Amino acid sequence: MIELPEAAVLARQTNDTLAGRKIENALAAQSPHKWAWYCGDPQQYASLLTGRTITEAHSHGGLLEITVGNAKLVFGEGVNLRYFNKGQKLPARHQLLLEFDDGSSLVGSVQMYGGLWAFPEGEFDNKYYLVAKTKPSPLSAGFDQAYFASLLEESSAKLSLKAFLATEQRMPGLGNGVLQDILFNAGMHPRKKKDSLSPEDQQVLFDSVRSTLAEMTARGGRDTEHDLWGRPGGYRTRLSKNTVGQPCLSCGTPISKEPYMGGSIYYCVNCQRM
Ligand SMILES: [Zn+2]
Repeated sequence: MIELPEAAVLARQTNDTLAGRKIENALAAQSPHKWAWYCGDPQQYASLLTGRTITEAHSHGGLLEITVGNAKLVFGEGVNLRYFNKGQKLPARHQLLLEFDDGSSLVGSVQMYGGLWAFPEGEFDNKYYLVAKTKPSPLSAGFDQAYFASLLEESSAKLSLKAFLATEQRMPGLGNGVLQDILFNAGMHPRKKKDSLSPEDQQVLFDSVRSTLAEMTARGGRDTEHDLWGRPGGYRTRLSKNTVGQPCLSCGTPISKEPYMGGSIYYCVNCQRM
């Protein structure tokens, strides 16, 4: 699942590669998928998008938003997006295919679930999207210590750090993937309770949220995810499915994995304290 760093990377790559490209053909919902979400009738996507030109892309949390004339295309976290040059073989199954005036294509496909929303600007009232657009990104200046302190203050004292960081869209785009290395870098266990944080701990956690996400973004996203060309990101995850059972980079203890709150957590039992 792409999260904040990968969405930022996809936005940059879209701007570099697709800005100025005119859509010659749009095909949505060609392969039926129960958990692919569209805005309105996907059969209307062709008339909404065809003949329009991509101008720019932005990320909002884990969402990628592409401006196409006076319409928007928004891709959610479970969508695989791949760009294909003219002549490259396209995948047989997909939930959205855009063909451009230079013969290249963009293909969106959903594995488990994901949104591929196209709509006239201003006509999409999805709460998840609106919240992601409104809250400050941890990579922006608006996400400062005072803001982070207010998030801590407003949330229940009983929350674990995993729940605090990765639920309720407190920090859009910060999900169960990136939180693992954020907590590793902070030296804190995902089950640690929020109310056990000292003022110094709060500072350490704030710094780790910002610096870890910035590093992931600067390196082209995590190595567990793929970019617009299908290449894995250049950021080597310290804690992920790739490193479970491997020695911790700091102390050599094998990395642990266990289920927690509807997803796996990874941690070093020696480096990350409750
Ligand atoms: Zn360790």
